[in-house]
Amino acid sequence: MKKGKKLYEGKAKIIYATPDKNLVIQYFKDDATAFNNLKKSNIEGKGVINNRISEHILSNLSQVGIKNHLVKRLNMREQLVKLVDIIPIEFIVRNIATGSLTKRLGIEDGTVLERPLIEYCLKDDKLGDPIISKEHIITFNWLSKAQLDLVDGNLKRLNDFLLGMFRGVGIKLVDFKVEFGFTNESNKSEIILADEISPDTCRLWDSITEKKLDKDRFRKDLGDLIPAYTEVAKRLGILHEQSNVTAVNVTKLSSVKKKK
Ligand code: 5GP
Repeated sequence: MKKGKKLYEGKAKIIYATPDKNLVIQYFKDDATAFNNLKKSNIEGKGVINNRISEHILSNLSQVGIKNHLVKRLNMREQLVKLVDIIPIEFIVRNIATGSLTKRLGIEDGTVLERPLIEYCLKDDKLGDPIISKEHIITFNWLSKAQLDLVDGNLKRLNDFLLGMFRGVGIKLVDFKVEFGFTNESNKSEIILADEISPDTCRLWDSITEKKLDKDRFRKDLGDLIPAYTEVAKRLGILHEQSNVTAVNVTKLSSVKKKK
């Protein structure tokens, strides 16, 4: 698929046009940011692993009927995806209290929630992605009540699916953030899951040791981000190489696989 002009550059990905007006190329960068862009770094190989993990998860979601934007992975850093008009809301699902929830409400870190908690944040860096209610979403016409119910249903099914998938490989799914968008294929607008699902967008703890295997390694300066992401990929059966895969090896590995 021929890569056209850059349409949008975000913190971790770039979107390029293609000759098909309904399809775009999603490029995974190595850039890492946190705390509303106050902390920035470039972690070699991160984009390659996230591309693979997100491809793995989204292609499995199609099998359980959760519609999403993935068409196919093109190469080590790029996916062909459906063009969507992103809904300006971050949809967060929590199973264990940590992160901003504990800071905001004083809930003890690590508290296992009786049932999954859905939160909504407005996607607006200038405002610091403020938390919003369902009423805000409906009042400001970001989604209708029926559309919000549909998304909430998808979030619950997605959480069940991801919880089971990660539990099966010895990982606790603590929380995650996803985004949805409107397609415009054949002029029929439909809400589908977009963006990515990866250790950048989920909190993942080893089931036994509770070692963090996600972007908190960057946020909290814990180091060893690439080995942690590689561990997630290996457990999901995406990478089969020996444990301590370095960023450079991941990059080489992907090019070798592509050449085959
Ligand atoms: P918290 O609100 O506790 O900071 O984050 C809750 C969950 O949503 C975590 O899994 C976190 O990684 C994800 N999340 C929230 N906002 C963002 C964001 O702007 N970017 C990314 N990559 N993940 C986010």
